Amino acid sequence: MNIHEYQAKALLKEFGAPVSRGVAVFSAEEAEAAANSLGGPLWVVKSQIHAGGRGKGHFKEASAGEKGGVRLARSVNEVKTFVSQMLGSTLVTVQTGPAGKQVNRLYIEEGSNIVKEYYLSMLVDRGTGRIAFVVSTEGGMDIEKVAHDTPEKIVTFSVDPATGLMPHHGRTIAKALGLKGDLVKQANDLAARLYAAFVAKDMSMLEINPLIVTDQGTLKCLDAKISFDSNALYRHPDIVALRDLTEEDAKEIEASKFDLSYVALDGTIGCMVNGAGLAMATMDIIKLYGAEPANFLDVGGGATKEKVTAAFKIITADPNVKGILVNIFGGIMRCDIIAEGVIAAVKDVGLKVPLVVRLEGTKVELGKKIIEESGLNVIAADDLDDAAAKIVSAVNGKAA
Ligand code: GDP
Ligand code: MN
Repeated sequence: MNIHEYQAKALLKEFGAPVSRGVAVFSAEEAEAAANSLGGPLWVVKSQIHAGGRGKGHFKEASAGEKGGVRLARSVNEVKTFVSQMLGSTLVTVQTGPAGKQVNRLYIEEGSNIVKEYYLSMLVDRGTGRIAFVVSTEGGMDIEKVAHDTPEKIVTFSVDPATGLMPHHGRTIAKALGLKGDLVKQANDLAARLYAAFVAKDMSMLEINPLIVTDQGTLKCLDAKISFDSNALYRHPDIVALRDLTEEDAKEIEASKFDLSYVALDGTIGCMVNGAGLAMATMDIIKLYGAEPANFLDVGGGATKEKVTAAFKIITADPNVKGILVNIFGGIMRCDIIAEGVIAAVKDVGLKVPLVVRLEGTKVELGKKIIEESGLNVIAADDLDDAAAKIVSAVNGKAA
């Protein structure tokens, strides 16, 4: 689960990490009050969307002006102008994709005078099974590009959970960033606070880009992006409360209500599969036959008819779906339940695209019989290969 920058900064502040003063706003009136309370003389108006690259992004609407999604303002009036331009407009960044994201919240911050920008992030390194730090002198830049072009400018190390964060970790960061004097102490202090926050809140990723040195000679987290481990959310109701559903895929939200493992993708073939491994294999074989899956979907081992119906509806509601492949290997899952779910869903929402069904395993004969007798226009398939070939040719035949 992801949260907004202003929420991430409030969280870091709880752990004593240095961030700018700021106020989140939803309207022009709130923005004016916020700008006045912050006092100036410099303000930053920051679009709050769950995507990075906002500063270098652009708005779709001409009315939003030429500047990007993060703007420096030098008067309350300028803050007001930016707020009226940005609120409700659609921001396109390298991370949003061409469709962009509508900006419904802004964060008004006191502006900082930047002496130097750095990069600092933390993540769970699956290789070592530890929390790793990634730091670089190349702050405020696209870190993937730094990693590609100048990997020597990135320093990483991981922390032994038995000892926790040690002073030598702080010194490693300070050395990597070329910090001197009091800034070394500040880096050590900051690393300890970020590590404490990361562990306490079950984060999976924390990115500060840029971490800056201000003209006051202090370190400050100027941007903050946090992702949390979804499997640990049950013990963090305070974090769950920060969830912004408007930032998430509507189909994924619907799927989560039915406890379905669903991930929306960009392709045209909707997949309904049981078992994560079979779902991966199904996606692979669709690609092998030259098409792209529209989603990952694992209905699970013990899915009910209601769950299967919900899953099928989510797939058919996706306008990108040009064909559907149901691929079930009935072990615990019974093929007749799948068949009934598919038929119930089709009765409800209709079927406008080709449907290939491959059933195998428990109660397969009954499942096939139910589908045959339903009179549905279903293309039956015998195995995975056959199923993928049939759905891809049905979709391509239709498009031609
Ligand atoms: P991102 O583009 O989504 O990563 O948003 P950031 O929060 O990182 O802001 C983009 C850029 O705006 C930063 O890299 C800074 O260069 C600039 N910026 C943000 N806040 C301030 C500020 O308080 N003062 C100044 N001078 N620049 C800022
Ligand atoms: Mn940033």
